[in-house]
Amino acid sequence: MSEYSDEMYAGSQKRNFMGHPIGLSVLFFTEMWERFSYYGMRTILILYLTKYHLFGVDEASMIYGAYAGMVYMMPIIGGYLADRYLGSRKAVTYGAILLVAGHGLMAFHGPAAYMSGDIVIRDEFYINIFFLALALIIGGVGFLKANISSVVGALYGPNDPRRDGGFSIFYMGINLGSFASMIIVGYVGEVHGWNYGFSLAGIGMLFGLLVFLWGQKYLGGRAEPPKPEVLKEKSPIGLNKENTIYLFGLGMVALSFVMMQYDEMVIQLVGISGTFMIGLVLFYGFTKCDKVDRDRLFVALFLIAVQSVFWALFEQQAASLTLLADQQFDLNFLGLNILASQVQTMNAMFIIMFAPVMAWAWLALAKKKWEPSTPAKFGYSLLIIGAGYIVFAWGMGLDDSTSKSFLWLIFIYFMLTLAELFLSPVGLSMVTKLSVPKIVGMMMGTWFLFTALGNNVAGWISSLMGSQEHGAASGTLDMTATMDLYTMIGLGSGVIGIIILLLTPLLKKGMHGVH
Ligand code: GLN
Repeated sequence: MSEYSDEMYAGSQKRNFMGHPIGLSVLFFTEMWERFSYYGMRTILILYLTKYHLFGVDEASMIYGAYAGMVYMMPIIGGYLADRYLGSRKAVTYGAILLVAGHGLMAFHGPAAYMSGDIVIRDEFYINIFFLALALIIGGVGFLKANISSVVGALYGPNDPRRDGGFSIFYMGINLGSFASMIIVGYVGEVHGWNYGFSLAGIGMLFGLLVFLWGQKYLGGRAEPPKPEVLKEKSPIGLNKENTIYLFGLGMVALSFVMMQYDEMVIQLVGISGTFMIGLVLFYGFTKCDKVDRDRLFVALFLIAVQSVFWALFEQQAASLTLLADQQFDLNFLGLNILASQVQTMNAMFIIMFAPVMAWAWLALAKKKWEPSTPAKFGYSLLIIGAGYIVFAWGMGLDDSTSKSFLWLIFIYFMLTLAELFLSPVGLSMVTKLSVPKIVGMMMGTWFLFTALGNNVAGWISSLMGSQEHGAASGTLDMTATMDLYTMIGLGSGVIGIIILLLTPLLKKGMHGVH
């Protein structure tokens, strides 16, 4: 980075984007399209698996859990490779190429599964193509997701007051992309054909790649390899180091492909990696930090670990909540005929509506010295989401028809989003504030690793909600199991939320003045 002078930086940043460095617009639109493809695909995935490939709720949920677990696990490797060798620009470009390939491949879905007596007949070749497509997406997100966020940070000098604002604008890009895609891809996928929906997600990602290839010159050299000459050196396998890393990336794709076949083992992979990272951070804290840094690091580690509970509840969206919307709710609302896949849109819509309100509320509370501390916000988040599920489960019990009121879906999505705003952006900023700068990338990777764990557990919880037909798993939810599980996870989350609130004074002490 250092060989890019301030002059060059200033020269490339003469134009600006909403008062921010022009490079932010490139990252904004690239990530907007990347999230367009990610959430577009996610919004129809569970319906596609249960309706087109006739997987039961159990298998379909486990496939989602394995996929999302791996998706959020890989950024720790992609982040490391970018920090150490590639630099973020090359890593994001490579990730985007893998993503175009993966989403493109999703468009080839082969023939639909059918029943022969009680047995489901699927075309195994195309199921493998599907797993390969997921594996390419997993590798692609691994190279892109954490690194593109690091470039946002790198656009600002250490004391630039616009940094937080820059991240807020970037978060808007994420949610604009997901909002648009859940409406468009959801509609095209459900009405015109799943493969057309997936193709649209792929086209969106292609736009993302093109925007980034065109716009990378505006990053002002802030995302270059730390030592470009090292990339040209020969590696033990005869290729130069840069190409060796790309080959290693394909190895990550191959590993993901294998893991998708053994979806129940992803939890072990993520769990072992999580335990290893906790060990590593503890070791670093005890051997390399003074007391203040160590305490802060351990508070960060604790909050990083507990956020997995949040994602396990939150990501029912991609699994059981979408199946519920499809099977149990009246989706005609205010004259609109909403599709099950489009219900998830409410999350992005509420974020766009309420993120600025929340940012304002935190500032107003801070002025009165009433702003809750970061650990308290985590506690409230788990209480809010827990209460949401308990009330939602109770509400569903009031009406045993299959055209329950849409207002209940609005309620649960509102609660999910409110809890997200108490935890997700707050958490990212907490990681950067409480970590020793030298290992902030690793800590961010650990954050995503525990997000991965939560996503994976979300799939597993949803997999327990399926009903049996003729002794075989079906794509229909068992309502008693669903309501019981929602109540249980709601209570569990609430109890953990209360424990965090009780621990807050201790955690605050460990933060040594950082808010
Ligand atoms: N909605 C955010 C995004 O897609 C957060 C996702 C996450 O951390 N799981 O970037």
